[in-house]
Amino acid sequence: MNRQQEFVLRTLEERDIRFVRLWFTDITGTLKSVALAPAELEGAFNEGIGFDGSSIEGFSRVSEADTVARPDPSTFQVLPWAHDDGGQHSARIFCDIANPDGSPSFADPRQVLRRQLSKAADLGFACYVHPEIEFFLVRSLDTDGHEPEPADNGGYFDQAVHEHAPHFRRHAIESLEAMGISVEFSHHEGAPGQQEIDLRYADALSMADNIMTFRYLVKEVAMQNGVRATFMPKPFKDHPGSAMHTHMSLFEGDNNAFHDPDDPYQMSATGKSFVAGILQHAPEFSAVTNQWVNSYKRLIGGGEAPTSATWGRANRSALVRLPMYTPDKASSRRIEVRSPDSACNPYLAFAVMFAAGLKGVEEGYELPLESEDDVWTMSRSERRALGYRDLPGSLEQALDEMENSELVAEALGEHVYDFFLRNKRREWNDYRAHVTPFELRSYLPL
Ligand code: GLU
Ligand code: MG
Ligand code: MG
Repeated sequence: MNRQQEFVLRTLEERDIRFVRLWFTDITGTLKSVALAPAELEGAFNEGIGFDGSSIEGFSRVSEADTVARPDPSTFQVLPWAHDDGGQHSARIFCDIANPDGSPSFADPRQVLRRQLSKAADLGFACYVHPEIEFFLVRSLDTDGHEPEPADNGGYFDQAVHEHAPHFRRHAIESLEAMGISVEFSHHEGAPGQQEIDLRYADALSMADNIMTFRYLVKEVAMQNGVRATFMPKPFKDHPGSAMHTHMSLFEGDNNAFHDPDDPYQMSATGKSFVAGILQHAPEFSAVTNQWVNSYKRLIGGGEAPTSATWGRANRSALVRLPMYTPDKASSRRIEVRSPDSACNPYLAFAVMFAAGLKGVEEGYELPLESEDDVWTMSRSERRALGYRDLPGSLEQALDEMENSELVAEALGEHVYDFFLRNKRREWNDYRAHVTPFELRSYLPL
């Protein structure tokens, strides 16, 4: 029993915890939970908890269904609200998933990210991220196929009058901070009902855990406030969708490896090659950062969402932006990748994005020229002439790109890569079979 484990067991007792929820994430990014009586946790630390993986998306095949969850004591947190009238609380702890022989499961997104981070560490880099998470608050999710009703009528940075959930953002932030997740900013986003909460940077694995926790807490707090939260990428035809802009940086020891005070962009050669790697491989990894049919309704040109692999400083149509920062704060030098949406699997998304950037660094990719163009207003041939590559326009195109990608295959590992492609092809085919209201409106009169 190590000290972290002892601390967890002591806390369970001191705080009279009712249940310990063992959390992990399936390949599609859905949070899974097994509730444990606190007395069982010591055994779970020693031997893990066996469960039937065959019923979980992407885990083992039926014939080898036994899967073991190993709680990671560094992720232990008490959930912020009392469980029942008795005032008892539950706690959660993230798990690494292992095969019965103890080897890391190839189906566990957390292990995919761990593998990528250890490759980065072999190159001397620690990987940091902070996300800007956008989402909608709506009156109900039960809309019978119609667009939902936003919970407010605010716009960008409005101090909106939240008729239906006046204290939502304060409650959400208090809950996040109670679970050790620091919030940097929060504000109303551009569309009615749309919110944004930006988390303070952390190492990529902790941040992926934080994002899973964030989605759970935000949905809970919304319900407690009489509304519902949705991370769907594009619920409204006429409003922008929900991005998860991801700020990324590499550190070598205490030094930000992207910072170079003598460069005109204050960007080091490492940083430039990293950006070049993202631009080069973005079409291949889009299926992971934008994993749903609906994701591609967001990336259509406009609404501040990127459609081409370009970079710029103030250009909001660019895929990668170099945000402003205070030059005396070298540690905050970073890049912002603007394509991921709020419904991605954060473990897999961070794994492929770091794989792409690090590939650029390893191979010394050259950064293309900065683009100040508004690519949304350019024709396809104008974009081509300037060498701007388009991002996939549909889940199907994204899967075609991914299917030809050695980089993504290697980053995800064979099992996750194959499962992902199969699962998503099925989703695309299901979607294709639907006759939409748009078609009925347009073609019935024919
Ligand atoms: N909601 C926009 C999108 O879908 C991003 C808005 C912003 O720039 O923060 O990409
Ligand atoms: Mg935003
Ligand atoms: Mg942003």
